[in-house]
Amino acid sequence: MTNRNDWHGRPYYSLDAYLKNTYGEKLYKIAIDAGFTCPNRDGTLGDSGCIFCSAGGSGEYAVKASSHATVSEQLNAGIALFGHKRVGQRFIAYFQAYTNTYGAVPHLRTLYEEALCEPAVAGISIATRPDCISDDVVTMLVNIMGKFSDKFVWIELGLQTIHEKTADFIRRGYPLPVYDKCVALLNRHNIPVVTHIILGLPGENKEHMLSTIDHINGCGTWGVKLQLLHVLRGTGLAALYERGDYSPLSQEAYRDLVIDCLEHLNPNIVVHRLTGDGPRSLLLAPCWSLDKRNVLNTLHRSMKLRAAYQGRLYTERS
Ligand code: SF4
Repeated sequence: MTNRNDWHGRPYYSLDAYLKNTYGEKLYKIAIDAGFTCPNRDGTLGDSGCIFCSAGGSGEYAVKASSHATVSEQLNAGIALFGHKRVGQRFIAYFQAYTNTYGAVPHLRTLYEEALCEPAVAGISIATRPDCISDDVVTMLVNIMGKFSDKFVWIELGLQTIHEKTADFIRRGYPLPVYDKCVALLNRHNIPVVTHIILGLPGENKEHMLSTIDHINGCGTWGVKLQLLHVLRGTGLAALYERGDYSPLSQEAYRDLVIDCLEHLNPNIVVHRLTGDGPRSLLLAPCWSLDKRNVLNTLHRSMKLRAAYQGRLYTERS
């Protein structure tokens, strides 16, 4: 059970707070594009991807595989991008673009081990889909966790919503029980799970989003990313937006939803993100999201004014 004194002055248990408590410093993420694709794009489940996903498979911040062929080269190029900015000595290698467990297990192992062998890497975080985590992948992960016992391995799962109607509409491509089963499997092997949830999906209201929070509260996820739905150029969502069939959230509406979600969130769950991450070059809307500092400052101010904090309205299920 976390203590609010461990939250470093924030009204929620942020990833920064967790890292400082655990490693004594903030660790920066280096996004990797390891050359994967996704079953939702290569024709296995579909060829258009989730309606919000850009052609880069949500990996626009990664150092491109084409310009830096190996994981090590990408990591070193990513570290160099920090330049003279004051950062700690260690980093998280974030396998971000597309579905990062969608490949032959020996190949996956080679990529992950290459990252873990880098002295500056404290651990890896692997973004994927729950229908792409087989028993063999888990066995391999357990194995490398044993081999690199001073480093960590996290799995990030794109759930987005628990509602099947929305999941069909956004073309997620798997039903909720697949996520639940995957989290249970990863929990059994002590592999921490970070769940991605999107706020503002078409057809969803506050009650839909709070029931998604309620579900993850009890399912065994260790962390959560709450993300704003962005309209990115070239996506299915962009077509809806341009036809006038989708209106993005206002900053005020998003702020209020985030506060509601945090107040209902289990206070032990680590909050990895509270904003979106839409690349400027592709973002059609909402443009207010580009000023992340303002979004977070406004959120923190509002939470202070309302005396709101993570878990204030959370009730443990018996
Ligand atoms: S599962 Fe991920 S990478 Fe694949 S289409 Fe959806 S958002 Fe994009």
